[in-house]
Amino acid sequence: MTRTPFRLSVILAFQFVLLCIAAGNCHAQTTLKEEIFSTYCGAADLSLQPQNIAVIWQPMIDTALLIPPKGRCWMRLSAQNQRSDTNGSAYLILQRSPLIDTVLFDGQGKEITQSTHDRQSELAIEIGRRILFPTAALSNGPLYVRFNSSNPIFQERVINKGFSPLSVGVMEQQRLLMTTIFAAVVLLTSAMFIASFGIALRDLDFGIYSIYTFALGVTLIAWDQVDLPIVGINYGWVWQFGCPISEAMLCWLAIRFGKFDRHSIVVSRILKLVIAFNVLLLLWSMLAKIGVPVMPMPFDRFSYDNWQDVLIGALIMIGSWRGGRRGERDCYLLLLSLTPSMISDFINRIWDPAIAPFLQSSLGYALPHWLNKTIHFNGSLTWLALPMIFCFALARRSLLLHRSLIDERKLLEERVFDRTMELHSAMKELELLATTDSLTGLANRRSMNEWINHEIERSCRFHKPLALCMIDIDHFKNINDTFGHATGDLAIAAIAKTFNETIRKTDIASRYGGEEFLLLMPETDEIEASVVTERLREAIQALQLYSDDNHVFAVTASIGVAFFDHQAAEDTMSKLLNRVDKALYRAKNAGRNQVAFSSSQFSADAAFSN
Ligand code: GH3
Ligand code: MG
Ligand code: MG
Repeated sequence: MTRTPFRLSVILAFQFVLLCIAAGNCHAQTTLKEEIFSTYCGAADLSLQPQNIAVIWQPMIDTALLIPPKGRCWMRLSAQNQRSDTNGSAYLILQRSPLIDTVLFDGQGKEITQSTHDRQSELAIEIGRRILFPTAALSNGPLYVRFNSSNPIFQERVINKGFSPLSVGVMEQQRLLMTTIFAAVVLLTSAMFIASFGIALRDLDFGIYSIYTFALGVTLIAWDQVDLPIVGINYGWVWQFGCPISEAMLCWLAIRFGKFDRHSIVVSRILKLVIAFNVLLLLWSMLAKIGVPVMPMPFDRFSYDNWQDVLIGALIMIGSWRGGRRGERDCYLLLLSLTPSMISDFINRIWDPAIAPFLQSSLGYALPHWLNKTIHFNGSLTWLALPMIFCFALARRSLLLHRSLIDERKLLEERVFDRTMELHSAMKELELLATTDSLTGLANRRSMNEWINHEIERSCRFHKPLALCMIDIDHFKNINDTFGHATGDLAIAAIAKTFNETIRKTDIASRYGGEEFLLLMPETDEIEASVVTERLREAIQALQLYSDDNHVFAVTASIGVAFFDHQAAEDTMSKLLNRVDKALYRAKNAGRNQVAFSSSQFSADAAFSN
């Protein structure tokens, strides 16, 4: 963290030194340049008739020739007082904007067909955006070049890149093209890669990165006019449209990627202004392209581009640094990735006199040749760091997404677990409610029926006796009438409690009706049943009950007992219930507070009931 300001100041100091070098070169013109170039940019067209050849040719003071919108300029190339270092093997290199088309004439005004990519050509070689003229040919007499600009809204430029031997010139030219092709292929591939990931992640940011990368790749191809004759497109216009798109996208992605909206509102606002201006430029160019007569821009495109690049570069660097200091890691990524391209950009702008006209410097060979080549031939490679950083960011974001998905899944699993537990306890409660009588806590009628069925099956299977008792409180209506229903309820609950104290664990007691109870006793014969029921009857009788107004009272109960006949195939639960009901009825009729047994034999009982 503390090293970042140090790094930034090193970068700035380096740029300052370069600025001084370039500034030191200002107005240091060579006579050679004046002798070789002289230009004519008159209002009238120069048809190169003998009389026109004598027109006043302006010596080319600066190294770049400015051509007005839709204009036409001439350049006379002659090498009368050649220096020894520009002997026959040297070639003059001119670089032109892609919207400029050139026509070559000899000393008599006759048009010369230019050769493309032809090393054997005597007069001129045109490769990509550059044209090479042999100085030997120039010394035989002047050559005339006509530059036609098809750009309706911007001034265009022809730039002098100096002299070099043919082999070097061609080699460098081809290296430049190879570099451009390589950079463009990488940019276009990564644009597709980033776009596809952006779509997969439904992330708008990656859409912006991919548009930027794509626009940059296309602009690069168009600027270097990579020879793709099959496509047959107008490179100039692709460049014209590509430039504002990539500039606007660069600002937009800086705002989003560097989160300038959050930590540097001033930087964000200026970047938004630059976006707006570039959108305007794009619209302006589009209108001009479809033939609408629009006003030309009051500035030269190269100067504007230079200032804009310097401004954007500086803003992004300052903003990224500030964001990084506040702990936004993406900002450092942006700073790191943009640094090489920004440095090359700054050096280009400051050092190259032709594309940095605001410095008005001369040929500018103040920098060592290797640096010149590195910047110009490999400059485009410096942009590759950006898409690389997008891929890094993509990977980082995917990782974060992956982690948050895992966290979310864990949270979800925990929630599902909690809900399942809640559901389990709710179900248990519900089951209890469905099978239990709320007043007494005994099994209710529904669950008792199930128990009876279950025990009947066991009795049949294991040939074991099964006793069923029905207990009904005597004259219960009187208790209700005398002490009230609440006391009646208390009495019912107290009697239920005596069941739990009297019966075995394997026996099942239930509240079958209002004040009627059923007692199911598996593996219980008549003797055992009589003992239990008698004990129960006594326990009920012995109960001391209290009314609301503290009156002590007692209750008695009548009990009917019946047995399931597991030997009789036709015996059923309803018949058993019928028998026990009748036994109870007999107990009631016999004077209450007693136990009455149904006959143990199903058939005998049936006879009895008849
Ligand atoms: P017996 O069985 O000895 O013939 O006389 P009984 O008065 O008990 O007769 P019956 O079966 O006709 O009356 C039962 C009474 O029990 C009727 C009803 O008011 C009362 N009862 C039924 N369920 C409840 C209850 O949950 N709480 C209270 N307090 N009373 C109940
Ligand atoms: Mg009753
Ligand atoms: Mg009763």
